[in-house]
Amino acid sequence: MFTKILIANRGEIACRVMETAHRLGVKTAAVYSDADRAAKHVEMADEAVHIGPPAPAESYLLGDRIIEAAKATGAQAIHPGYGFLSENPDFVDAVEKAGLVFIGPSAKAIRAMGLKDAAKKLMEEAGVPVVPGYHGAEQGSDHLKAEAEKIGYPVLIKAVAGGGGKGMRLVEKAGDFLDALESAQGEAKTAFGNADVLIEKYITSPRHIEVQVFGDGSKAVHLFERDCSLQRRHQKVIEEAPAPGMTAEMREAMGAAGVRAAEAIGYSGAGTVEFIVDGSDGLRPDGFWFMEMNTRLQVEHPVTEAITGVDLVEWQLRVASGEALPKAQDDLTIKGHSFEARLYAEDVPKGFLPATGTLTHLKFPEGARADSGVRAGDTISPFYDPMIAKLVTHGPTRAIALAQMEQALATTEVAGSVTNLGFLRALTRHEGFKAGEVDTGLIDRNLETLAVDPVPCSRARSVAALGFAGLDRAQGDLAGFALWSPVAQTIQFRFREDEIAARVTTLSPTRFRVEIDEAEHQVERVGDGWRVDDAKVPARVVQLGDAVSVFWSNGYHFERIDPLDRDAHASGDGNLIEAPMPGLVKAVYVKAGATVSKGDRLAVLEAMKMEHALLAARDGTVAEVLAEAGSQVEAGAALIRLEDAEDAAA
Ligand code: ADP
Ligand code: ADP
Ligand code: MG
Repeated sequence: MFTKILIANRGEIACRVMETAHRLGVKTAAVYSDADRAAKHVEMADEAVHIGPPAPAESYLLGDRIIEAAKATGAQAIHPGYGFLSENPDFVDAVEKAGLVFIGPSAKAIRAMGLKDAAKKLMEEAGVPVVPGYHGAEQGSDHLKAEAEKIGYPVLIKAVAGGGGKGMRLVEKAGDFLDALESAQGEAKTAFGNADVLIEKYITSPRHIEVQVFGDGSKAVHLFERDCSLQRRHQKVIEEAPAPGMTAEMREAMGAAGVRAAEAIGYSGAGTVEFIVDGSDGLRPDGFWFMEMNTRLQVEHPVTEAITGVDLVEWQLRVASGEALPKAQDDLTIKGHSFEARLYAEDVPKGFLPATGTLTHLKFPEGARADSGVRAGDTISPFYDPMIAKLVTHGPTRAIALAQMEQALATTEVAGSVTNLGFLRALTRHEGFKAGEVDTGLIDRNLETLAVDPVPCSRARSVAALGFAGLDRAQGDLAGFALWSPVAQTIQFRFREDEIAARVTTLSPTRFRVEIDEAEHQVERVGDGWRVDDAKVPARVVQLGDAVSVFWSNGYHFERIDPLDRDAHASGDGNLIEAPMPGLVKAVYVKAGATVSKGDRLAVLEAMKMEHALLAARDGTVAEVLAEAGSQVEAGAALIRLEDAEDAAA
């Protein structure tokens, strides 16, 4: 076994590899960019080398610098993780030339699978079923179009150098072919520097089922299948093992095909053979076709680890250091069922836009494996994949493992960035998915219902109000309890654009009445938990600066309304300057007819023992002063009205 390895990656996979290395007594060296100076993978490593600026092209993709770092730290081998340099055969050559071990397959094996067209040819020769289609060298558009006609629509155009769903176009009919071809080629050229495409029969009711293989350079075993059919834009969202509905006969056939593929290229280490499966008529041994092989550890490898009990990174290190395959095919069995959900910082309602932010609060669920490269306080930066964690559950049956996943998602707490938690949870509750009826179109067909962003009910808002009032935890010495009398206060906060005013009456140190929106709730704090209207509820309150998050199956994030900020809000479009909270008008500085400029102090309100200046949100003329100094006003009371902007202009 190695004594020290370098991990040429970042984020969750770098941490994942280090965990196993440390367990095996292997020392680790990390590399990091400027953006990752204080990252978790740097903290976890025994030593770490700075390799450059944040952009991957100037850091994590600089093979030479990474090899230098390995030599400087005395590492004997390099683990590439996934992404970055993991499938770059030139890097493998350079690593070996430097006298180091690449923890993965040979450069030759990576090259054999690097281009989808060449890989398909090779697989056909090895007796692995491939998707019917054209994967020849002739790339003229008329020729490609004629080939598409031969295959029969619908067809899929794929970049031969493709990955991550890029350079791929579904074409339903001949009339659309040339436009689709042009855009696929353009995307492929930009993303991979190679515009060549292949054309495949588009499998209807497609399922993505892949086989985990592991080779020692000549022989290979398989560790069964994973179903990755839940996809969005050809990207996996939730994966599971084994595949629902899998029969012993088909598993046998797919496993054997995976092993044939690996052995055909003298594969060493962990790899994945991806198949597309026609699920329209159940799973049949003649209904699967090779799509591509990923010559690395896959993102979703934990579900295989869960059902087989094998630590795939341990196998990688052992085989790369010269040991034989740790287990024979007959020693491998499946135990139970496992799911993985990919938790991302992304804005689901805005079309799954990658998000950034500092994770002010982060808590992973109990009872699930969470592979993560971030800690509370870490920032999701725009430079890398916005993954927060992979959550993995393992249960005796599929239904149990899925219920565990729903629970895991409901109790994962993230504040500081929007996430896809609600979307993932909606998926775990989808009836078709629960029934195991998966295909790659499931998410798209149900996008509208899956992507709804939950809004907190008045009970969750009531609990938030107590958070803002600082009443979500014990208020120090309770000795004076007998002297308590109900105290009422008004709290104002915001859920996105929705402004909320709550009137909180303290009935006892732990009991409150909250009047909110049109509702009224009795809220009681019991230890760390809550009862609302006499029912125990699974709510948790986390207060961070001016924000309060309530975690109640979903995470709801509220902000205190900053009176100054509110001016801008209140009078941004309208003409009214309103009291942001109940208080005493201390001074009014303007009279009707006065000309004011944006930012001018118009009045001062004293509330919550502080003075709040109310500023003009735009240039204009005062139409009316509605409150005088010395008067007590309610929240939202109109204090000053400006003339309509249009009127003033006319
Ligand atoms: P597929 O390649 O079939 O989509 P995966 O789901 O394993 O299979 O996707 C892994 C791909 O995602 C990598 O090849 C890489 O392009 C990208 N990726 C995801 N996370 C990272 C990361 N932390 N660093 C680099 N690349 C990543
Ligand atoms: P990538 O390298 O981008 O991962 P793949 O060839 O693995 O490309 O395909 C990605 C996804 O596209 C698959 O998981 C599947 O959902 C879909 N797909 C690929 N080929 C076909 C096909 N012939 N018919 C239907 N769907 C397909
Ligand atoms: Mg793929």
